[in-house]
Amino acid sequence: MGYTNSYWEEESFLNYDIIIIGSGIVGLSTACSILNRKPHYRVLILERGLLPSGASTRNAGFACFGSVTEILSDLRSMSEDEVISLVKKRYEGLQLLRERLGDQAIGFQKKGGHELLLNKDEVSDQQIEHVNKLLYEVFKENAFSRRDDLIEKSGIKNKNHGMLFTHLEGQIHTGKMMDALLKKATSMGARIITGCFVENIDENSRGVKVTVKDTVNNALIEFKSEQLAVCTNGFSRQFFPDKDIIPARGQVLVTNVIPGLKLNGTYHADEGYIYFRDLYGRILLGGARNLDIAGETSSEFSDNEKITTYLRKFLAETILPKTDFTIEHQWSGIMGIGSKKTPIIERVSPKIVAGIRMGGMGVALGTKTGEMVAEILIQ
Ligand SMILES: Cc1cc2nc3c(=O)[nH]c(=O)nc-3n(C[C@H](O)[C@H](O)[C@H](O)COP(=O)(O)OP(=O)(O)OC[C@H]3O[C@@H](n4cnc5c(N)ncnc54)[C@H](O)[C@@H]3O)c2cc1C
Repeated sequence: MGYTNSYWEEESFLNYDIIIIGSGIVGLSTACSILNRKPHYRVLILERGLLPSGASTRNAGFACFGSVTEILSDLRSMSEDEVISLVKKRYEGLQLLRERLGDQAIGFQKKGGHELLLNKDEVSDQQIEHVNKLLYEVFKENAFSRRDDLIEKSGIKNKNHGMLFTHLEGQIHTGKMMDALLKKATSMGARIITGCFVENIDENSRGVKVTVKDTVNNALIEFKSEQLAVCTNGFSRQFFPDKDIIPARGQVLVTNVIPGLKLNGTYHADEGYIYFRDLYGRILLGGARNLDIAGETSSEFSDNEKITTYLRKFLAETILPKTDFTIEHQWSGIMGIGSKKTPIIERVSPKIVAGIRMGGMGVALGTKTGEMVAEILIQ
């Protein structure tokens, strides 16, 4: 007989009320929401990486809910009701995240969100009014206004550009937020096991068996639970090959500390494809995935030279004209996207619930999604 589980392991480590796959913001938020309502539940989170290894520790830290050009673009592929409901989920998710962890713990700063219009006539006043009216029921105020005066204040010099602004947007320290969320889930009673790639799920009438390879003992370990939540976002095709979800890689660059930096807050451009912000005296810049959609449809972490070259050029020509800078940090992250921007939050089979497809705004959407997944699991 080779390696077998001990009596003690069977008793204390292998059986749960709910197992969650994925320790990103959605998996951790799901655990917190379950344990909020059912503190006695045994909850296990299985994470393939030693650290969360998708988007949640690798994003840009925008606490945002959509810019005007992005919302106008969404209105071309989604109904008005769908767009309102999506923005509402993001906005509510953000409030929930702040309440759960506290602004200090997540490094939240409400500096406001800017949209840089590369051509100042790209958006008309009527279109801004239309978006404000549409989203009035979410924000209870006109969220967006034209503020061309903020272009120069941000250190951007091009006279052909325009700027929109909302004071409702903020930014977080992504590392602090995930650290606080991991600690919160653990303090509420969730067990998190990292370095634990789930190979297989097997559902039967009594519950779910989740198989993981134990490389140390060269054995397969089976965790059992009554129900399972799959929160694997961009990696979800492993479990749901037929769902409308694909991986989408995003690139991020961070400059050195730039003396006298004027840029202050979060900035979006090009329908949200480009984003940049101040980061304690540096600039964080990312996106431009639309330059190579096919190349960035990948679940592998890797540089995309075409895109990072473009981002450096954008920095040099648009954001920091006539300013020396170096790139001190560079990484990629993996999102989960589909033909629609709405998340997939549903019971996919009697014992399994999915909370996936967070798109590019999961910081805002992730907490709300976790709450909704938890509600389905414990109803
Ligand atoms: C570059 C970039 C910038 C972004 N910027 C922002 C931003 O500024 N603001 C914003 O709101 N959103 C942003 N996002 C999006 C946001 O980060 C995501 O929507 C959010 O983090 C998704 O959370 P999640 O928990 O669904 O997924 P993830 O964080 O990807 O978590 C899924 C987890 O599942 C694990 N997993 C997968 N398969 C398995 C398996 N078989 N076994 C065990 N574990 C598994 C993965 O390792 C991963 O840790 C950005 C994303 C990227 C990539």
